[in-house]
Amino acid sequence: MIKQTYLDDQPAFIASGPTNIDGQETRMLTLIFRTPPCAYNQCTMCGFDNNASGKIKDQNIANQYKTGISTANLTGVRKLDLPTAGSFYNDDEMSPASRKYLFREASMLPEVEHVMVETRVDYLTIEKVLESQEQLREDQEFELAIGLESANDQIRNQVLRKGLSRRGFEHFADICQETNSRLRAYVLIGAPTLTKEQVIADAVETARYIYEVATARGIDTFVAFKPMFVPKGTELEIQFNEGEYELPTLWDVVEVIKRTTELKCFQPNSIWVGMYDENLSNDRVTQNCGECDTEVSKAIIKFNGTQDLSELEKLTCECKGS
Ligand code: SF4
Ligand SMILES: [Zn+2]
Repeated sequence: MIKQTYLDDQPAFIASGPTNIDGQETRMLTLIFRTPPCAYNQCTMCGFDNNASGKIKDQNIANQYKTGISTANLTGVRKLDLPTAGSFYNDDEMSPASRKYLFREASMLPEVEHVMVETRVDYLTIEKVLESQEQLREDQEFELAIGLESANDQIRNQVLRKGLSRRGFEHFADICQETNSRLRAYVLIGAPTLTKEQVIADAVETARYIYEVATARGIDTFVAFKPMFVPKGTELEIQFNEGEYELPTLWDVVEVIKRTTELKCFQPNSIWVGMYDENLSNDRVTQNCGECDTEVSKAIIKFNGTQDLSELEKLTCECKGS
């Protein structure tokens, strides 16, 4: 009982790393909140349930925020990312009072210029976004994130069971446009059933779709690639353990980045690659031969800040292939 109370006052995960804001290298702090489980809870690769707790009250959210902010290094952090175990705008997962509290707190961080939250489109309304923005300072930009994963309907809704239509995604983008928010879309690298070449093509094609949707609405976007990892207790874990699923390599990730920057509709300084597994995977992550993993991972993380492709192009190893 004591342990449970203690955990409910701790963020599920804290990470800090490079990102780029409008051409400038900076840092993003991610505080993942322990919240009630995702009400949808059907995606085949999702391990966020491991971060959830059914007993969370407003006071726990406040305590998690205070713990996270006091333990994190805020030096140079201009972007604050506040993910949950599900949807930020589902009132049953994050109450309106807690949302208000978090934005008010964020408005008091003088160096933070961007604030980001993630939600399924089902819970997103213009009113909720405006309420959130009201709490922020005028110079703080708001970013709304959604897990699109793949622009391919079959991959997104049959293989990954996202339950998200293209229309739903475009409605999300409409709300970003109407509320002057930046759109961030997560793109999976490594959906099951795809060959290596298809994995790369699917991620690049998804990026293309996101840029086109954003540009058509005159909004800025971030394409946030998530190289797959295998979280505990998921359908993906079963497939992985039975030898039916193989993770992509870090070289595949580098190739996806390279091809994305070559897209005609590419928006400069708009790529981010999620290189942490939130302690959910038992090290079953996208990786290379073992010899070059540290170097290539570090280079990708650095790229998040610099957006300089030439650093990635210099990388080499016997395992890279031609
Ligand atoms: S990926 Fe998102 S929507 Fe899907 S089950 Fe996980 S938290 Fe819910
Ligand atoms: Zn290697």
